[in-house]
Amino acid sequence: MSIFRFDLPTTGIQPSEKLLVIKLRVLLVYAGSVAAFFVPPTPALLALMLMGFYLRTFGWEGGHHRYFAHRSFKTSRAFQFVLACLGASSGQRGPLWWACFHRAHHRHADTPQDPHTPVGNGRMYAYLGWLFDKNNCDTNLDDAKDLTRYPELVWVNKYHYLLPYLYLAGVYALGQWTPLFGGDAGIAAVVWGFFVSTLLSLQGSLLVNAFAHSPRPGWFTYRSYRTPDTSLNHWLLCLLSLGASWHNNHHRYMNSARAGFRWWELDITYLTLRALAAVGLVWDLREVPEHVLLEASRPDEGGLSTDRGDRQ
Ligand SMILES: [Zn+2]
Ligand SMILES: [Zn+2]
Repeated sequence: MSIFRFDLPTTGIQPSEKLLVIKLRVLLVYAGSVAAFFVPPTPALLALMLMGFYLRTFGWEGGHHRYFAHRSFKTSRAFQFVLACLGASSGQRGPLWWACFHRAHHRHADTPQDPHTPVGNGRMYAYLGWLFDKNNCDTNLDDAKDLTRYPELVWVNKYHYLLPYLYLAGVYALGQWTPLFGGDAGIAAVVWGFFVSTLLSLQGSLLVNAFAHSPRPGWFTYRSYRTPDTSLNHWLLCLLSLGASWHNNHHRYMNSARAGFRWWELDITYLTLRALAAVGLVWDLREVPEHVLLEASRPDEGGLSTDRGDRQ
């Protein structure tokens, strides 16, 4: 069956599913979450939801973003595959697609070539619209040659949609056939452990796109660095995005494994990476140079810069 092809091309355009399918899948996450109003949460269901949120948000922020897009730490080929699967299970598609579009975002931040800037497009486009733009669906494998060396990553990128379904099936099995949720609770486990947790995890990424770039820093935001883009540190989103919302810091020094630069800028992804490094699953975490940390201006003093050079 073609769905399980393992001899996929590693160059050129890897086509995505049809745009309608992509839209329906996102819609399904929102619609499925509405069912939570009819399924009372229990402590066990909430724990399942939070665990799924944490694991899979780490999948896209620690995996798709900091590892695949920025190569900010090293790991084994096996754990790299685990990260790719975790990231894909969050509903944020494959690691190569994520890395290509995110690298384009950094390269062209807040210009017309930026795939999801709210500048000039509006917040709704940065939030969801860009995902439904047919120009942003396929993966140009030639833009991620460092990753296409691994056929298993090309495979996950192509069949990324299997991973959320696998996660859903696992969650159903836990609810239905284990005593953890009182038994016969497969549907309730899917509603809270899959739909609500996927919706929350997705919000972390989409809200950062929509609200961590703006020419007018507003509520909950500040700039620490004079970057040539409109990136903002958004403290209210730091839990929901596991640290991805320290976005102005990140645009200043994007290849660091760390995005929260001040002691109070909580960066759960970085803390998780430190814990994984302590047990030897990842290593060589790229840190932020001292001069970059010192360079941070006081909150709200980081104006716009026209200098696009000399940034990592
Ligand atoms: Zn950005
Ligand atoms: Zn980035």
